[in-house]
Amino acid sequence: MVTTHNLGFPRIGAKRELKFALENYWKGLSSRDELTALGAQLRQRHWENQASLDLVPVGDFSFYDQVLDMSFMLGNIPERVRNLQGNALDNYFRVARGRSAKDSACSCVHAGEMTKWFDTNYHYIVPEFAVDTEFSLDASRLLDQIAQAHQLDVKAKPVIIGPVTYLWLGKAKDDSDKLALLPRLLPAYATLLNQLAEQGIEWVQIDEPVLVTELNAEWQRAFVTAYEAFKDGKVKLLLATYFGQLQDNLTLACKLPVQGLHIDAINARAEIEQVIQQLSTDRVLSLGVINGRNIWKTDLHATLEWLEPIHGVLQDRLWIAPSCSLLHVPVDLDSEQKMDSEIRSWLAFALQKLGELQILAKALNKGRVPAQEALIANNAAIEKRRTSTRVHNPEVKAALARIDAALGKRAGAYEQRAAKQSALLNLPAYPTTTIGSFPQTTEIRQARNQFKQGELDEATYRIAIQAEIARCVREQEALGLDVFVHGEAERNDMVEYFGEQLDGYAFSQFGWVQSYGSRCVKPPILFGDISRSKAMTVAWTRYAQSLTDKPMKGMLTGPVTILNWSFVRDDQPRSVSCYQLALAIREEVLDLEDAGVRVIQIDEAALREGLPLRRSQWNDYLQWAVESFRITANGVQDETQIHTHMCYSEFNDIIASIADMDADVITIETSRSDMELLDAFDNFNYPNEIGPGVYDIHSPNIPSQEHMVHLMRKAAERIPPQRLWVNPDCGLKTRAWEEVLPALKNMVEAARTLRESM
Ligand code: GLN
Ligand code: ZN
Repeated sequence: MVTTHNLGFPRIGAKRELKFALENYWKGLSSRDELTALGAQLRQRHWENQASLDLVPVGDFSFYDQVLDMSFMLGNIPERVRNLQGNALDNYFRVARGRSAKDSACSCVHAGEMTKWFDTNYHYIVPEFAVDTEFSLDASRLLDQIAQAHQLDVKAKPVIIGPVTYLWLGKAKDDSDKLALLPRLLPAYATLLNQLAEQGIEWVQIDEPVLVTELNAEWQRAFVTAYEAFKDGKVKLLLATYFGQLQDNLTLACKLPVQGLHIDAINARAEIEQVIQQLSTDRVLSLGVINGRNIWKTDLHATLEWLEPIHGVLQDRLWIAPSCSLLHVPVDLDSEQKMDSEIRSWLAFALQKLGELQILAKALNKGRVPAQEALIANNAAIEKRRTSTRVHNPEVKAALARIDAALGKRAGAYEQRAAKQSALLNLPAYPTTTIGSFPQTTEIRQARNQFKQGELDEATYRIAIQAEIARCVREQEALGLDVFVHGEAERNDMVEYFGEQLDGYAFSQFGWVQSYGSRCVKPPILFGDISRSKAMTVAWTRYAQSLTDKPMKGMLTGPVTILNWSFVRDDQPRSVSCYQLALAIREEVLDLEDAGVRVIQIDEAALREGLPLRRSQWNDYLQWAVESFRITANGVQDETQIHTHMCYSEFNDIIASIADMDADVITIETSRSDMELLDAFDNFNYPNEIGPGVYDIHSPNIPSQEHMVHLMRKAAERIPPQRLWVNPDCGLKTRAWEEVLPALKNMVEAARTLRESM
């Protein structure tokens, strides 16, 4: 008999119940008891949802983040909250967000750093280490959840992050060697495993996803040390890897003294044969056969064809599961009553994925006949999607086949272009601009929502948005900025806005996925060949330009960012979808140019985060990502100025690719780094223009003129002043007008001061 299990379940709730409960608690609108009761209720519901499984994850529920939970369990709590009075949950929130509930007597501390969980869009709180970090176990949170599970007769399999991955995820604040903490960390883990055994736990899932990254010999040795230390424990360990292939770590993973190994059989299918050969015959092999990272139905027939012979060999040693935790997919497709029914028939969210797992288990355990009905239905959906004309558009495929190197090349070199552009635009030195959005007021959001719901007719909506654009133009005139934006009032989200207008995209109503804490994203679903049937931004931009003589930037989201923030197709490489997006956005660029727009900004906010987990795959990604951008941007005349924007500043690794994009101007986030991050551009002799952000838009603080002059002077030590722009770090949509106006006023003043001293 094959065993079924799950690595983790989305904790936010099908209706984002956890999000709203957290936010109410933080605002002081509900009590801690109400919040913890909701947590218990969600756990119970999610276990019921998973009742068909042989083993159910426990401990995957979190009030904020599973890595932060682990830090608290290991007693690795930052000094700055350790001595604070008060409740443990509140201290936990202080590390997560800088404050607990409405901290009136402000026991505010600075929040822990947040970073992306491997190559997902989930963000975790980075564990903090120092040379003298000590660990002391407090497993009460997990033990309470286990007690709750046992009371409900849940077949509990606790989930914890393994010690090597835990260290790898953290940061030594004093630059000490964090791996040196391993000997101090292991006893805490050993105690934890003992406590779990005392609770009658048989299996523990211990997540070590770093095994799919490039590890040096020292980190590989750490695995041996760690798991040798747990060898005589009383619980059985299922060592879980996911998100990629093991490659150089394959033998290591197979030889560790654990009782079972979980492999992502979507990403690492090619390695399974080797794993079976190397794994000793007293070990369980868990195969992640359902994709936990996308929203597509599994081809159950193809999966069974592959899996049945493996089952024949492994028999009871075979377990099956989703490839990774289902944290990265929405909860329930059945909520999507408004979605086009054909497209919905191609999809599976968390609950549907668990249903698929059940069908696979039935077919493996009892033969395909008892599972036949479900298999036939699945096959019909898979076939329809495979051949649908809504997915496949021959014209798009033909256009893709015609792509050649010339398509992504500007006519003239940067110097020629810069001369022509400066003659035409006539900008002062240190030109000032903003990144695109202006504050989004409640009224704008309301108008947009009403229009979407059909409560507002198009003409009234247009007038409302135009009024907002006019306001932005007036304010920019008054401020004396040099290159204007229209303010993006018509956009809810920089990806969704374009997805909604492109053919090949679908939208869910409840397809929320946790990004961090209470924040969720609802990625649009790229299901088919992408094409653009009409201009998407030209009318708004043209209207904005009609109100001023200053150059108005056309504002677009680039293909790589649209791709990286969507659920994408699994039936073609990401690069192909990206090139399709590139061709569609290129049409928009050319239409803007035709409409007389002289400056066009193409945001690539998510280009860097698309980097694959393994460095060996970076070049391939960067090659097609950069080429996609070039195709989008570079069909314009020399006179048209192309801007791009990236809201981060770690460019060291990718500076050559950034230069290769050949945008005339790039604006980046730098204000917090005191411009030191411009070194990457300096060292590379980056040839084009740069706008290093001088206004930290993540903070409500209003930067002074002096501070911004100071930052720009530092920038000018690295980049020739003729090539510098003055602008904020990112868009202003999350800020209030009262903050934005004085900040920009100071920014414009700063630019004047800089010009005078040239
Ligand atoms: N143009 C977008 C804005 O200003 C850019 C946002 C981003 O980079 N995340 O909102
Ligand atoms: Zn940005």
